[in-house]
Amino acid sequence: MHRSFDTIAAIATAPGRGGVGIVRVSGPHAAEVARRCLGRLPSPRQALYGPFLDARGEVIDDGIALYFPGPHSYTGEDVLELQGHGGPVVMDLLLGACLEMGCRMARAGEFTERAFLNDRMDLAQAEAVADLIDAGSAAAVRSARRSLEGGFSRQVDLILSALTELRVFVEADLDFSEEELDLLAEGDIQYRIESLLDQLATLTEQARQGNLLREGAHLVIAGRPNAGKSSLLNRLVDREAAIVTAIPGTTRDVLREHLSLDGLPLHLVDTAGLRESDDPVEQEGIRRAWAEIERADLVLLVVDATQGEGEEEGEIRRRLPPRLPVITVYNKLDRLTELPADASDVLFISARTGEGISTLREALKAQLHYSGHPEGLFTARRRHLDALACTRDHVQAANDQLIITRATELVAEELRLAQEALGEITGRVSADDLLGEIFSSFCIGK
Ligand code: GDP
Repeated sequence: MHRSFDTIAAIATAPGRGGVGIVRVSGPHAAEVARRCLGRLPSPRQALYGPFLDARGEVIDDGIALYFPGPHSYTGEDVLELQGHGGPVVMDLLLGACLEMGCRMARAGEFTERAFLNDRMDLAQAEAVADLIDAGSAAAVRSARRSLEGGFSRQVDLILSALTELRVFVEADLDFSEEELDLLAEGDIQYRIESLLDQLATLTEQARQGNLLREGAHLVIAGRPNAGKSSLLNRLVDREAAIVTAIPGTTRDVLREHLSLDGLPLHLVDTAGLRESDDPVEQEGIRRAWAEIERADLVLLVVDATQGEGEEEGEIRRRLPPRLPVITVYNKLDRLTELPADASDVLFISARTGEGISTLREALKAQLHYSGHPEGLFTARRRHLDALACTRDHVQAANDQLIITRATELVAEELRLAQEALGEITGRVSADDLLGEIFSSFCIGK
């Protein structure tokens, strides 16, 4: 399927000054723009050096032009790239010339959207393009590349074809016997459904890890004032990010830091000590601390080991959302002469000396179910995880129908819904509003 559109243009390089800036043109008039702007059409995929002219024939800049005739181009359409000097005014003049020659400004992500619509890539790959550009670590780059190369899509397609086979099987049976599955077929279908559920579980786990790598985990450091929360934050990020003093209530606002734990992005939040206070500034800090805790993935509850857990920690624990995992760390281990007998399920650390910090890092990875091996992962979004969960629910429902009602048409319908949900990942079946949502988050020129 090749669709034809109007011709779009945009500055593809980042705003600001640089050695080189690129204006990209895609669509049916790209060749004509090349002829007018360069005086002739460059040979396909060969650099042509020369002056760039505006619509009146005046020279704007000198540079290199590349022409990629469709369908073997990024968008699948005819594409022209004009590489000039990377100044904002030069780029504006060049873009203005393209617009005068009949192009319109591209929307954010429109080049990649066209690549998708022209079957140059599927939706998961298109999203990987944005993830690659936004990647915050080398591990995130590698996983986005793997998705872009189709690593994720291939796995989705494998399950999709298994689903198709199963549907054919079930629906053939539907044609045979009106109401019920024959017993021989039933055993086979059951086996196939179970293996589908297994495949889905494996893919979901990989996607979850990929999503964690892309979005990171939100970690809140909580505890009463002076327990050593800011010292622990500094120790984890390995620099003096937070102010540490012996005066309780020093951290009045939330302080954010980011760190990479073997490739896993951690968004750390140091909160104001959670305690009763009459100081309005401190009260506001405490309110913000609780707001952060509401959206956290994990809480690190820091306890001053020289004092042990008391009423304050009890109160904090009672107020924590029940779903939230908590790692309790007893800090100031360097000041203890012996470990307290009643503290089994906790980690002992010293933010001051660094003792116990590597154990804490391992505990964090374990609690977040992060394998610590980003190799082999592919980038995945919440949208993909939702689609996988929905697919699993429908396959599970097909299984239940098979066992409980044994009604073939209900099994068939659940499998159809499962296939529809899974197809959303690669965009084999995608609503227009979903496409709009995905591509609008891209940068212009991509
Ligand atoms: P916060 O109020 O919970 O953020 O606590 P801070 O990080 O500001 O620390 C409070 C006090 O405890 C400061 O004087 C720190 O130097 C001290 N402190 C923090 N961690 C340790 C530790 O591991 N050992 C010792 N001996 N003192 C610590």
